[in-house]
Amino acid sequence: MKIIREIPAMKDWVRAVKKKGETICLVPTMGYLHKGHLDLMRMGKPMADHLVISIFVNPTQFGPSEDLDKYPRDLPRDTELAASVGVECIFHPSAEAMYPKGYCTYVEVENISEGLCGASRPGHFRGVATVVTKLFNIIEPDIAIFGEKDYQQLAVLRKMAEDLNMNVQVLAHPTVREDDGLAMSSRNKYLSTEQRQYALVLSQALLKARRLVEQGERSAEAIKAEAVRMIEQTPESTVDYVEIVDPALLKPVERIEGRAVMALAVRVGATRLIDNITLEAS
Ligand code: AMP
Repeated sequence: MKIIREIPAMKDWVRAVKKKGETICLVPTMGYLHKGHLDLMRMGKPMADHLVISIFVNPTQFGPSEDLDKYPRDLPRDTELAASVGVECIFHPSAEAMYPKGYCTYVEVENISEGLCGASRPGHFRGVATVVTKLFNIIEPDIAIFGEKDYQQLAVLRKMAEDLNMNVQVLAHPTVREDDGLAMSSRNKYLSTEQRQYALVLSQALLKARRLVEQGERSAEAIKAEAVRMIEQTPESTVDYVEIVDPALLKPVERIEGRAVMALAVRVGATRLIDNITLEAS
């Protein structure tokens, strides 16, 4: 397992691979790996000659009052886990290397990044699109894999790769959950034992929504109201947003016709958690 911290060294490694005509699959992460991350890596392993991950807690995607400084980090453990699923190389740059003094170039994906998490975290997707563009330029992956857990991020990055004619295929992996339904997340570590139980309301509200659609409910307002009710009844839990949108452009829909995505963000204690589900009206 190679851990590469410097951008020129990473580019040298990539150049050697490309010279041989071999392919690269990249799984970008912020580290503190869990089974969700590892499943993305397992998916990528057979898809290219080389599996690379990045571990970088990207400062430009955090707001001033967010958890950049306390975001969990554990490189030795991450290295072991990544090795166990066949990762060959970890790119782990410093913030100073990625954003040196005088840095001033950003990537903005309009519309699709403005609602949902984009509304409650201004600048977040600008930071995500920028860092992923930089990772794509440094690592030149043929394939990059992202999780549906961060549905809006996936949609933004797909659009970015398409609009900017990037030479990378953006692939999605379904959300990986704990046995009780909680979507895996590095931020779950922040939850106390009680909050860990309260956090089940996210997946339960989404499953309730799916059941309502199966029973014939088509009004987005009614479905969202039920989710809000469930969240408000849960101790220590407050709604950030509950929205039902079309799967491609992420515009809110009034009625469920065909496929839609219900996405929500909930604060459990001080921890902001997100989740989403596909709703399908037959
Ligand atoms: P993060 O380290 O949280 O930035 O996540 C890195 C990648 O893993 C992103 O593409 C996430 O969408 C994906 N990911 C994180 N948690 C999950 C999960 N529970 N299921 C599927 N993908 C996930």
